[in-house]
Amino acid sequence: MPIYEYRCQACLHEFEMLRPMDRVNDDVLCLRCKGRALRRLSVIAPVLHGGAIGSLAEAGMERGGACGCGGACSCGASLN
Ligand SMILES: [Zn+2]
Repeated sequence: MPIYEYRCQACLHEFEMLRPMDRVNDDVLCLRCKGRALRRLSVIAPVLHGGAIGSLAEAGMERGGACGCGGACSCGASLN
């Protein structure tokens, strides 16, 4: 069961709680004041092994990066 981080909206108490994945969006009560706590949105850094960052940069960033696609990149989504 994954652990999620929550922060109370009332007292700003932060705590972790084990939650079933199918209930992760349910309301959680603060452990301290029983106020409503919201799940913190953690930034999960992808696990990149050696060389992955460089190859990602080569594959995307250096080809324009801002693929929307407005045609400035070479992703093939031609506007023609
Ligand atoms: Zn609280």
